[in-house]
Formats: sequence, structure tokens, C-alpha cells
Amino acid sequence: MPKILVTGGAGYIGSHTIIELIKQNYKVIIADNLSNSDIRVLDGIEKITGIKPEFHKIDFADTKATKDFFDKQKNIDTIIHFAAFKAVGESVDFPLKYYKNNIFSLINILENMKKNMVKNIVFSSSCTVYGQAERMPVTEKTPIKKADSPYGNTKQIGEDILMDFGKANPNFNVVALRYFNPIGAHETGIIGELPKGIPNNLIPFVTQTAIGIRKQLQIFGNDYNTPDGTAIRDYIHVCDLATAHVAAIDRLKNKEKFGNFEVFNVGTGTGISVLEIVKEFETVTGQKLNYKIVGRRKGDIEKVWADTKFAEKQLNWKAKRTLSDALSSAWKWEKTIYNEQMTMNK
Ligand code: UDP
Repeated sequence: MPKILVTGGAGYIGSHTIIELIKQNYKVIIADNLSNSDIRVLDGIEKITGIKPEFHKIDFADTKATKDFFDKQKNIDTIIHFAAFKAVGESVDFPLKYYKNNIFSLINILENMKKNMVKNIVFSSSCTVYGQAERMPVTEKTPIKKADSPYGNTKQIGEDILMDFGKANPNFNVVALRYFNPIGAHETGIIGELPKGIPNNLIPFVTQTAIGIRKQLQIFGNDYNTPDGTAIRDYIHVCDLATAHVAAIDRLKNKEKFGNFEVFNVGTGTGISVLEIVKEFETVTGQKLNYKIVGRRKGDIEKVWADTKFAEKQLNWKAKRTLSDALSSAWKWEKTIYNEQMTMNK
């Protein structure tokens, strides 16, 4: 089976994708600088799949280290490039950190792909490229607006770099996946999201509040122009997002038919408000959540959800799991890491 290099493979989406790749018998190599991930995820992958993939600690923003790494690799068929910084708020405070890491690493990888004739790349893009679109749901043709944050800009620039690279190099193939909001964890409860410090994202904050690590969830704004006043997003189970990468690799096998640069929305097609998340979490887990409404968070948009028809038709992929599946898996995972922590502290 073809060999897939997964950059950022120790991270949240990367690790769940690796499970799906191994299930499909792909040979996987992980490269990650562990800046926002934990090497122990490899044990989790082994527990679930029976296979511990080859691991390399690499910082792809480092040009020399990237070259040295690729020079030693043979027969990589496809790269799935997850490795990037992803916190919107942090990117506003530290823009250069974001541009340097996210853009340098992409360029270094593309240069080495070219040199070593690695033909295919799947790129982690984001629905942030749409900004606050005028019409919902957003399709792949919805106009891209000027990014609201340096993070969002790195994804826009990343897509542009890949498009230009594809035009100049017709033998190389690119699929960019625009992720909506990934949530949840592997159904076994063995791997999941491991935010360092105070979580930025809603679901880890919800589960940490429910288990008692955080006192209270703050809901950022209830004065949006939405049915209950709170902001709306398209929350997709991370395991569904993972299978979209397998579909993207299949797509890359048929590039002659489709052109060598394509972009797909990867969401569920359903918009859910923050209050709906809270209510659903309470129903699914039986936990009462302590929350209060506070002011809006800087940089947040009011609403976004995906039109998924293009991915459904062209990738033959669709999100299958429900919001309730996602929230109960996130809760199961929170309990696992909490208990682990308690045992370690004893
Ligand atoms: N949110 C919230 N409280 C939190 C974290 C997030 O109310 O502690 C809201 C946030 O304002 C947004 C939604 O939850 O409307 C999803 O936020 P998240 O950071 O998870 O993802 P984003 O859509 O910003 O990428």
C-alpha cells in the first residue's frame, strides 16, 4: 500500500486520521515537532490499531531539518500536512510566530516534494477563509474575504501557494480540505484532543467545566442575529473529518480527471448555536453545566455552516456521526484523561 507522510500526526486531527489510514492498510509515517502534542498518542494509536507508526521529531519550519528528513525518505506517495499553529487569538498577539511556522513549513515541504518527486499533498485548510459570509451555507464558491486573523490569513495564503504551485507543476496534485469545527474523540476513549493549558475551543472548555477543572463556561455573546442570540458553527465529529482525508487520497489517485488543485468543505451541513451545544451536552451526559453569558469574543463571526454537496458528490464522503455521538465521545475522553491525571498524582 502507498506510504503516507502525516505531518502533525501526533496532534488532534492528525492522530484520528492515522487510525483511519491504518484501517485502510496505508503505511503511515508521522513527523511532528511535538510543540502542541504528546508523544503518548502513539501508544493510543497502537492500542487501537495494533500498529505503532514510524515517528520522526521534525520541525518543518526548519529548512535544513526538512531537507535532511526528506533526503532520507523513500517512496512517499502522499503527504497530509496538518502541522501548523491553530489558535486564532494567539495569532493576533504573535503574528510572526504564525506566519513563520505555517508558511515556512508549507514552502519547505513543497520544495522537498518537488525535489523528491512526492506527487500528492492534502492540506489542512479551514472555514476561517470565508470570514463572515453573506449567505449560508457556504459553498466552495463563496467569495473568500480578507482574513480576520493572522491564523486565517496563513490558511488563505497556504491555499494560494498551493494553487500557484499546482499551476506551475502540473504533475503535482493538491487537495485542500476546509475544516469546519472538529469536536469529539475516538469512540474507544483512547485518543482525543489534548489542549495545553486553558482551552480556547468550546468543547474542551465544556468538558473541563463539567468535570470540575474549570469553574464556569463563559458563553461569548448572546446578542448575535441568530435564533437564540449565540453564535452558530458547524461541529463535525473528528472521526468523520478523519475519513474525509482517506476520501481525499482516493481523489488524488484520479487526478487526470479532476485537475490538480481542488478545495472541499468538510462539515456536516448543520449550524448549531453555542446554547444548543450546552443543552445537548447536558442531555447526552446528564451533567449540569455551569455557564454564564459574557460579551462577544474578539474576532468571532456570527455564523457559518457548510454546504457539503460538493464533497458528497465528488469525494463520495459524508459526515455520519451525530452531534450526540461527538459530545458523548468528548465526555468519555475527558473522563479518561482526568482519571489518568488523578492516578498519576496519587
Ligand atoms: N465559545 C464560547 N466559550 C468558550 C469557547 C468558545 O462561547 O469558552 C464559542 C465561540 O465564541 C464560538 C464557538 O463557541 O462562537 C466556537 O468556538 P471555538 O473556539 O471552539 O471555534 P472557532 O469557531 O472560534 O474556530
